[in-house]
Amino acid sequence: MTYLGSPRQVGLEMASTDELTEKVASRVDGRSEEIQDLFVRMLRIVSVNPRMGGPGERERADFLESFMKGKGLSVVRAEVNDPDSPGGVRPNLSAKLEGRDNRRTLWYISHMDTVPEGSRDLWKTDPFEPTVKDGKVFARGAEDNGQSLVASLFALLTLKELEASLPYNVGVWFVADEEFGSGYGIAQLLKRHLFTERDLVVVPDAGSPRGTDIEIAEKGLLWMKITTKGKQVHGSLPKKGLNAHRVGMRLAIELDQLLNGKYRKRNRLFDYPVSSFEPTKKEANVGNVNTIPGKDVFYFDCRVLPVYSLDDVEKDVKKKIQQFERKYHTSISFEAVQKEPAGPATSENSEVAVLLSRAVSKVSKVRPRFTGIGGQTVGNLFRRDGIPTAVWSTIDDVPHEPNEYAKIANLINDTKVFATAPLLP
Ligand SMILES: [Zn+2]
Repeated sequence: MTYLGSPRQVGLEMASTDELTEKVASRVDGRSEEIQDLFVRMLRIVSVNPRMGGPGERERADFLESFMKGKGLSVVRAEVNDPDSPGGVRPNLSAKLEGRDNRRTLWYISHMDTVPEGSRDLWKTDPFEPTVKDGKVFARGAEDNGQSLVASLFALLTLKELEASLPYNVGVWFVADEEFGSGYGIAQLLKRHLFTERDLVVVPDAGSPRGTDIEIAEKGLLWMKITTKGKQVHGSLPKKGLNAHRVGMRLAIELDQLLNGKYRKRNRLFDYPVSSFEPTKKEANVGNVNTIPGKDVFYFDCRVLPVYSLDDVEKDVKKKIQQFERKYHTSISFEAVQKEPAGPATSENSEVAVLLSRAVSKVSKVRPRFTGIGGQTVGNLFRRDGIPTAVWSTIDDVPHEPNEYAKIANLINDTKVFATAPLLP
């Protein structure tokens, strides 16, 4: 049973869940201007990832740290050395409230960095001067990931001010470098063992317009580059050479049949419920029609259900390559340009999935559904470390686009969801 405040404040009766939810909602509604104000001020501070030509997260982190300290939170600042970034370190910030069981924490993880604005011509407003219009805030990073960052921060403050008795700790992390692989953010924090398998991790960095989708699984990712060597000759003398393009095409077709034929299991969580193996990029070969190419390069984008191992896929590909090398007396090289295995799907019955879905149905008044996605979030890094993780937010899904925005109603709603979750019995 959970109640808010000290017995003196709320009387000795225990508040019902409905009362608690309403109390949280009215507190959050009462400070909606303050929430919006912090959101706008934060978005004004450019925090484009330094690997994408920006200044990085430092100024935004300083701003957030002083705001949080001003509200009486004690802030942990975990810095990661990055000599190539302005200032030489990348900041990650955390704050938490203690619960009755202080060995485990419900974490809300969001990121401070953004991608660049892209082509300015496509923006109707200045991407770094947030503009409020029709209930939306337009700015780079408004949706990805500013909305969730500010929502989780105000959820924490609301719980603190209500002096809520929490079943476990509730905390936030505002991390660096999500847009460029998380090497200076979550990946480092996981190496420093700042999370445990008993923690409840929510990554509000993907979502759906009505907040129905709770993502609990992601596919493994493998980008393959395959280079076939041949012998370049004049177009009229094919016997003298070896047409690398023909060998490459045949190989691509056989790989397509092999992989799509063999890895056929389905998982209904995913909108695209099977693994995908798609031939995508093709490098240009010769510049003229009358030369037989001596080199061929093609790529596959593979998105593999978590039930399969990427190593097995790679083994199958290499075996097929060897057959081709013997058949055509040539050499063919394989390179995994990108390889991110999927962590095990988080169970629909896991504590974090159940907790979040109850909070969503209570506050957002929608019926949540569990989903899987073909892309990857930092949720996958937690799952790979054995930590169950749910990915959720209410967003129109416009990250990285020109005229990116967040709806103020979603910002307020998600603040309520995050604050309500740990109060549900
Ligand atoms: Zn993001």
